[in-house]
Amino acid sequence: MNYTPEDKAKWDRVIQMMEETLSSPAQKPFFNTFIRPLKLYAATSDTLYISGDTAFNLQHMKNRYGTMIYSTVPLVFGRRYELEYYPESEISRVISPSRPSTLNDRYTFGNFITGPSNSFAYAASLAVAQTPGEVYNPLFIYGGVGLGKTHLINAIGNYIGQENPALNVLLMTSEAMTNELIEGIARKKTAELRNRLRNVDVLMVDDVQFLSKTKITQEEFFHTFNSLHDNKKQIIIASDRPPKELPEIEERLRSRFEWGVIVDIQKPDYETRVAILMQKVDQMGIEVPYEVVEFIAQNVNSNIRELEGCLTSLNANAELMGTPITLELARSALAGRIGAQTARKVTAELIIETVADQYGTSPEEITGKKRSQEIAMPRQIAMYICRKMTSLSTTNIGRAFGGRDHTTVMHGCDKIMEAMNADFAFKKRVEELIARIENN
Ligand code: ADP
Ligand code: MG
Repeated sequence: MNYTPEDKAKWDRVIQMMEETLSSPAQKPFFNTFIRPLKLYAATSDTLYISGDTAFNLQHMKNRYGTMIYSTVPLVFGRRYELEYYPESEISRVISPSRPSTLNDRYTFGNFITGPSNSFAYAASLAVAQTPGEVYNPLFIYGGVGLGKTHLINAIGNYIGQENPALNVLLMTSEAMTNELIEGIARKKTAELRNRLRNVDVLMVDDVQFLSKTKITQEEFFHTFNSLHDNKKQIIIASDRPPKELPEIEERLRSRFEWGVIVDIQKPDYETRVAILMQKVDQMGIEVPYEVVEFIAQNVNSNIRELEGCLTSLNANAELMGTPITLELARSALAGRIGAQTARKVTAELIIETVADQYGTSPEEITGKKRSQEIAMPRQIAMYICRKMTSLSTTNIGRAFGGRDHTTVMHGCDKIMEAMNADFAFKKRVEELIARIENN
């Protein structure tokens, strides 16, 4: 039971939003007395524990503004939480933050959606969690920002915490490690940190690209690494790049990163993005039409944090305006985020052009009358991709393909799906086309 710095910043934002709402001269003193003192004390997957001054003040605050705070939380956190309030003098007795770790218990294997972009990283992480120190050591996970590295290493830590509670798990960002080392050196207490690091069963270092390049930090880490590895203790490292591309890190340390298994996480494909959005919608407990999910998945492909950001901001917009979430609202509310993302909107024309180019034919032939196999196949692929990547109905897709009937479109899509199921190489080619269209 603990919270991350991110949670704390979010809670502070909730308080700030309350302040903005209660800004009239009449409300301001109330805000200062009853709401400003509210501090985030701890968090679990469904509850935020908040401390305040006194029981009396808290009761009064809850009566008047409890509901409002409750409904502001999802605007900032992106999902609902139960709120429990305790006076400052009592909270540490009621809830002891049991593990003084930096593990975030909301990141689990259970809520990690897998797809072609991350299934290998997921499988390796799970194997390590099930048999720490025995299979892949170290496990090195790399991938771009917001793609799930921190989520996966926390999932490993949480899994071990549950299945193997006797094991001592430590998760540190390389920055925290650097800072502690520097502090330790200043206070002549490096031995303490050294002991702490070398007495763990599982050491996880997040964002290793930020490990200080100072010799002493790297040396310390090098010796820690060796000591843990010799003792068959599990080491897990997350980075935004593969070891080879970490020039700041000494060669001898870098080469050790390559001793075990290196897995990467790629950008999620369309299907995975939809699945992640659906899960997030579910967690947030909000009503989002499927076409809106598709719209976001079609237009946002940079990373998962950005996908979540779209939903949070869309939800905030809808709540503030008191309207349901619709495709129209999504288009206007997300214009800024989406405009910056894609050079060109994914339209039937773009899809037809790209597919035609890939198959050495022309858009005119794709939409024309020829029925030979060389044209019919790319035509059906293009129809299928339109069905997947745009929100056009089969009737409108038929129209974009030279006025064909919607049953022809449906038949074409079915054929492609069958072919994809039967032939992995073909499936890969279609997926590559989709990726190419996404990144146009
Ligand atoms: P990174 O550490 O690679 O920058 P994070 O692990 O912080 O990325 O992920 C960013 C956000 O996206 C987090 O809220 C995380 O829970 C979510 N996320 C990432 N990958 C997945 C996934 N496969 N399924 C569900 N949520 C995911
Ligand atoms: Mg991270």
